[in-house]
Amino acid sequence: MSRAVSLHILPQQATHASEGQSASERPEVTSAARSTDHPRRLIDSHGRTIRDLRLSITDRCNLRCVYCMEPDVQFARRESLLSVAELLRVARQCVALGVEHIRITGGEPTVHPDLLAIIAGVAAIDGVRDVAMTTNGCLASAEALRNWKGAGLRRLTFSLDSVSEATFARMTRSNSPANSAGAVIAAIGRAVELGLGPVKVNAVIIRGQNEDEVPKLARLARAIGFEVRFIEFMPLDSGHRWDPSLLVPASEIIDRASEAGELVAHGRDADSSTSETFVFRDAPDVRIGVIAPVTRPFCGACSRLRITADGKIRPCLFSLAEVDLRSALRDVSTTDEHIEAILLDAVWSKQRGHGITAPDFRQPDRPMSAIGG
Ligand code: SF4
Repeated sequence: MSRAVSLHILPQQATHASEGQSASERPEVTSAARSTDHPRRLIDSHGRTIRDLRLSITDRCNLRCVYCMEPDVQFARRESLLSVAELLRVARQCVALGVEHIRITGGEPTVHPDLLAIIAGVAAIDGVRDVAMTTNGCLASAEALRNWKGAGLRRLTFSLDSVSEATFARMTRSNSPANSAGAVIAAIGRAVELGLGPVKVNAVIIRGQNEDEVPKLARLARAIGFEVRFIEFMPLDSGHRWDPSLLVPASEIIDRASEAGELVAHGRDADSSTSETFVFRDAPDVRIGVIAPVTRPFCGACSRLRITADGKIRPCLFSLAEVDLRSALRDVSTTDEHIEAILLDAVWSKQRGHGITAPDFRQPDRPMSAIGG
């Protein structure tokens, strides 16, 4: 592959060398290279190729999780959220630029009235290899699961931070009987049976909230047959209350999960995977994942791009700057080429990593609830 590549080490690479695979080994790619070798591919200036789109379709949610959304949250005006047609146009154009996997997120995507049309529209895009969705599971009835699968959904990831009802209620700030750990666990079992998998369950672990739930969730994973992935608490909470003292590091999470059985390390499925995988020595088909953005970051091979429900491009989860796509989408004179150019330039500007451990780190203003994870 011919590349007009200029190999030189940029000073700032030193400060972020801790963010996973040594990005400093990556050659700096000049725009000439992109425009010659990959004119229509989403590549950033650090040589990373984007293949995964996280498409947020709403900022609304039926829960108020303590690490995500404030009880008195103000949602965006409905008309400011992308329409179904706009969401599908963005997805189509991203696929045309090399995206292969699309994950539908929120807020909580299952509260969106046109969810089935969005799933079907995304699944129908030529070139899409995988359509997944992340849900808190509270609306994942047997009928809903069948309908989502029927519309083209291939994989489902649940968010569940505890198996005990008291902790569930405290962490989700929900006192509706419909929203319970038991109801979500039942939905997970149905999704496994329906083959919407491999079904994964994400659990954010926060010191003083749910670190004792780690072995319980690991045992549940063994019992039902899903992959549980424990996530280090990240500074993306809407209350900006994140503090290193609330972090339960990966090393401790692994120790706690080992109470459910001896674990064997399996590494990452791919360079760009967010999760480090382990299996139980006595049950090698049961996987445990650890997503450790703070203590074991994985930015070096990041392949993710996010589009928010109100039409902003976030090249990185921790981007401080966003690129507006909605105005262009709503301008009838905007061509596909123009949308492509906006996407290509936004990705080119993607930052090397989140910089959480850097002294000058600044938490983004936009909370996780309006990004979609
Ligand atoms: S923090 Fe940004 S660069 Fe790092 S893995 Fe997440 S999206 Fe990618």
